[in-house]
Amino acid sequence: MPEKDKNQQEGPDVRDNLIRISVDGETVFVNPDQYKPKAGQEGKRVKKMKRMPKNPKPGEWISEDYSKHKIADYKPFNFVDGEGVRCSLYVSGCLFDCPGCYNLAAQNFNYGRPYTQELEDQIINDISQPYVQGLTLLGGEPFLNTWVCNRIIDRVRKEFGHDKDIWSWSGYTWEELLQETPDKLKMLHNIDILVDGRFMDNLKDLTLQFRGSSNQRIIDVQKSFATPDQHPVIWDKLIR
Ligand code: SF4
Repeated sequence: MPEKDKNQQEGPDVRDNLIRISVDGETVFVNPDQYKPKAGQEGKRVKKMKRMPKNPKPGEWISEDYSKHKIADYKPFNFVDGEGVRCSLYVSGCLFDCPGCYNLAAQNFNYGRPYTQELEDQIINDISQPYVQGLTLLGGEPFLNTWVCNRIIDRVRKEFGHDKDIWSWSGYTWEELLQETPDKLKMLHNIDILVDGRFMDNLKDLTLQFRGSSNQRIIDVQKSFATPDQHPVIWDKLIR
């Protein structure tokens, strides 16, 4: 147990080898040595911190080899997954394995419930509300669930054309997606905004718009495809 500071003396925060801390409103002195990691623990901690997300080669991960066509969550009428009021579909399964991932459960391709016609009809009905700006696809990894994502994207375009916009998050970067399989390219061509890149714990910044780490970008997909060399054009409403 820490030693209580019965004297309440004024002075420096360090007394001999003890440091002063507050516990339940009382000042106590503790020996910092007792909080040092045990032999071997420090190495494990450093190793865990240094672990990086996976980096697939072009075409290495095929959506239909992994996807179980499952949905981790569906959140209609939210304000946080992109611009305006949005309906967000969270697909199940991701292989990037980013340390610090915000949605660990959704890394599992078996997590959640199947995507159904009934759910699709509900999404379309929700998006048809005049105050809804569009659809957002997140995960998990949307580009490893292209059967589901291309199906709902096609339906949104069929019902609303470009009156509603489509955002997608991805652990893939823009440059990686350009080298990917036809199903991923079809999906990329049909969305409006891509928030790209793995979550990097060492670049974490919670003040960024719609992103968790500073390597990630908000890319205007249609403007990017319109450039001669298909370079990524950053969303023109980016504030930070
Ligand atoms: S890409 Fe996203 S969902 Fe996948 S592991 Fe990284 S943070 Fe998690």
